[in-house]
Amino acid sequence: MDQKPHKILIVGGGIAGCCAAIALSQRGHRVQIVEKQDKWRFKSSGIFVYANGLVSLGKLGLLDPILRAGFAVPNGRNGYFDQSGEPIVETVYPEADGGKIPAILGIKRAEMHRIMANRVSELGVSVHLGTTVVELTEAHGYVDVVFSDATSAQFDLVIGADGLRSDMRSLIGIEMPPRYTGFGIWRSVHERPTDLTDKIMMMGTGKRFGIMPISDELLYTFGTVVAAKETFHAPDSWPETMRATFQEFKGPAARFLHELSGRSEVLYTAVEEVSLPLPWHRGRVLLIGDAAHASTPFMGQGGAMAMQDAVDLAEALEIHATPEQAFTAFGTARFPVCEFVQTASRAVGEAGAREENRDVQARNAEIEQTAQQKVDKFYDRLSVLMAEAELVLRQPN
Ligand SMILES: Cc1cc2nc3c(=O)[nH]c(=O)nc-3n(C[C@H](O)[C@H](O)[C@H](O)COP(=O)(O)OP(=O)(O)OC[C@H]3O[C@@H](n4cnc5c(N)ncnc54)[C@H](O)[C@@H]3O)c2cc1C
Repeated sequence: MDQKPHKILIVGGGIAGCCAAIALSQRGHRVQIVEKQDKWRFKSSGIFVYANGLVSLGKLGLLDPILRAGFAVPNGRNGYFDQSGEPIVETVYPEADGGKIPAILGIKRAEMHRIMANRVSELGVSVHLGTTVVELTEAHGYVDVVFSDATSAQFDLVIGADGLRSDMRSLIGIEMPPRYTGFGIWRSVHERPTDLTDKIMMMGTGKRFGIMPISDELLYTFGTVVAAKETFHAPDSWPETMRATFQEFKGPAARFLHELSGRSEVLYTAVEEVSLPLPWHRGRVLLIGDAAHASTPFMGQGGAMAMQDAVDLAEALEIHATPEQAFTAFGTARFPVCEFVQTASRAVGEAGAREENRDVQARNAEIEQTAQQKVDKFYDRLSVLMAEAELVLRQPN
């Protein structure tokens, strides 16, 4: 039987890697992170964390600093508008823990990462920046790892948390390049007018434009478009191209589009997915986060899935006698939840893209009637799947 605590290497220091390092160190494992960036550098803009993600952050001891640094939308309100700025309907997202955990929080990615990295360091996790893994060999109950700086070390377990373009996938023999989804996303950061406190979704034709507060001072906007795979925009043209792409959006969007200039923080991202079938591990090496299940961002749940992976991985290693059993239980528990999020998110993106010949008035009327129902249905099903996952995680395999 394996001796615990384990000596664990985590490859990648993003959301999944930092959260896993925290969850595993809290359980007494000896953890090391290697991160290929030579300093913590996180592309700007914001991120949504819905209540389920905030619950995981609470388990990692990160909730209070994250709540202080971000912006919790009052009562989880989301206002739908048409592209001219006419309101369509207001929906609310569910809170958690009897209202103690807000329904949606917006936060600057770099801020969220700063909080996670501080906690990683407080817990004594050793972090090696500018380093990656070049070779892995498993033998006699250990994984021998050769790093890019030519050093080597032996670990009980290795966790690949190196994102969508994971090199760890190929190092363990899984060839699965990310799939381009046909969407591009524009994001920009702005000063927040004090009266803009709700999440806003504006419904164009085949395009969406959202606005989300991310702190007392800032908000971010995000716009989705259908884009051919080979679409390329030179970064210095991003502010101008973003403004031109969403020029038909008026109402709450207009002032932020108008503000875009060469000094603005603007990002364009081609949206890709990874849907790895089980098992997500090979021997003593496990893939988590986007490396295993990168989702389109239409439900704003990819980060929350990575946070939950971290919590469940630490739990599985606690419950099960061997890493093989723990990794099998982890994958079996997490797969249905991540698959559900990916499928729902893809469907939202695709429905938004197939609108060229659609009667927009009829579409807006449908949104008015069904938007709240859809939110409720998604979160009800997510809760059921998460409750089932908790049971599966504990079952012997
Ligand atoms: C446009 C867009 C908007 C999104 N919005 C939201 C949202 O609002 N809410 C939400 O919950 N999710 C959102 N997501 C999804 C979310 O960003 C991801 O699911 C999340 O970042 C996954 O975390 P991760 O740690 O698995 O991967 P990543 O965040 O990609 O982190 C991987 C880390 O590994 C490092 N790395 C890569 N290769 C190596 C290597 N070979 N060796 C060592 N280190 C390596 C990288 O430098 C990086 O630090 C969005 C995604 C996109 C594309």
